[in-house]
Amino acid sequence: MRKILLGLLTLVALNTQAQKSELAEKYGNSITVEGLMDQLNILASDALEGRETGERGQRMAAALLMDHFQKLGLKAPVKQGDQMSYYQNVPLVSSKTKSSYLKIGKTKYENFNKNVFVGTGVTAGEMSGEVIFVGNGAPERYESVDVKGKFVLMIGDNNYRATRKASKIAAANGAKALIAVRTETDEILEELMTSYRRYLEAGRMTVDTGIEQNDFLGMYFLAPSLVKEILGKSYEKLSPIAFSEDNAGFEKIKKGSVSISIEKEVKKITSENVMGYLEGSDLKDELVVVTSHYDHLGRRGDKIFNGADDDGSGTAGVMEMAEVFAMAKADGNGPRRSMLFLAFTGEEKGLLGSEYYADNPVFPLENTVTNLNMDMIGRNDDENYNDKDYVCLVGSDKLSTELHEISEEANSTYTDLELNYVYNDENHPEQIYYRSDHWNFAKNGIPVIFYTTGSHDDYHQETDTVEKIEKEVYLKRTRLVFYTAWELVNRDKRPALNEQ
Ligand SMILES: [Zn+2]
Repeated sequence: MRKILLGLLTLVALNTQAQKSELAEKYGNSITVEGLMDQLNILASDALEGRETGERGQRMAAALLMDHFQKLGLKAPVKQGDQMSYYQNVPLVSSKTKSSYLKIGKTKYENFNKNVFVGTGVTAGEMSGEVIFVGNGAPERYESVDVKGKFVLMIGDNNYRATRKASKIAAANGAKALIAVRTETDEILEELMTSYRRYLEAGRMTVDTGIEQNDFLGMYFLAPSLVKEILGKSYEKLSPIAFSEDNAGFEKIKKGSVSISIEKEVKKITSENVMGYLEGSDLKDELVVVTSHYDHLGRRGDKIFNGADDDGSGTAGVMEMAEVFAMAKADGNGPRRSMLFLAFTGEEKGLLGSEYYADNPVFPLENTVTNLNMDMIGRNDDENYNDKDYVCLVGSDKLSTELHEISEEANSTYTDLELNYVYNDENHPEQIYYRSDHWNFAKNGIPVIFYTTGSHDDYHQETDTVEKIEKEVYLKRTRLVFYTAWELVNRDKRPALNEQ
């Protein structure tokens, strides 16, 4: 009797499972190549002028997204005065160095001559200060020195991320600026400056927090040959000390001094995150956020950077998923948890829209159960992973193993893509885990899955155009995101966080 009952229960359970699948599949199948390409053809058209943050094309794309969410009957969730809006205004400030120099003794080195300034600071005329050697710039190097208001000089590896980390440590210790020697020769710095030049001359955009951040000016990359001019000891003498484990030899190094001057050109702009809200049923206080970035690189003269794959593909994916979930709700099959379909601005300028959202969330982050983020899902990386039906997943197992399992199961049940985890390694040289908008959720402890396909020859080129989209596999990837979302919004429990 017991056995029979158990058998019956299993049958019932299996039966509900099968029904669930059918329902999910009904809506999954209504995401189509035509639907995706309809949206993408507009997003990646020349008319949208490459959707550069703060420019006309970006605002046109924002209007397109708003119109789409509105037509679907999604709610405008952002309070603006006494109105509700689909837009979250993101205040930004764009600044570029107009001129800068570093003076050692009587010799003045203009920007890009044996030094380059990377930062947002500005000085009122020329300022002078002491320079203190901090070895490789690690936190323990600051334990016995007072660097408040002074310059610090470090010798480190030729790695931007590590150098930025060192600049944060310098700032936290109250230093005025970090002078980083990250290349072994002046020639390597020369090459580095050439490759950074366009990026630096284009200026830098940041979220406008309204707080003047002039205490820490930024960092200088310095040619190793100038170390001796500043500290009296050569790069060759100092680098073994910098890279040694203990602080031995430090006390013998004299302080130096430099003078600097930085002039800036500053412009304030406003841009928009665009979002539509679909309210859930019995678990509506919890939220699943589906994201992409809709900004791209804009235009340079006649060249338009259409950004079909980056990230027109993810944005059309967000639009189609919004449509399908809205349709399901209209049929009485709406999600149990609420959903936010959110297209970010400012991603190409440094994940700014998502940074602003994470600092000014429209819905409480503690109720945000997962972020599914799509960025470049319409092409194949032919060089490295040319298997036709694959997608790279990043982050799925980092904060919640359960999320990872849900994702794997959604794929094996419905889409059968080859799941590639090569970028999931936090030590992968491309550092993909930190490089799209999901990171601003993950850093707040919210489980994420980032869907991407790796790079291709047209990445950040004017040739990232719509006819190169590989439609069938693009559809499959979008459907995988859909099925994963479907499970996440309808299951009883939010994905459990791993114990840290
Ligand atoms: Zn992108």
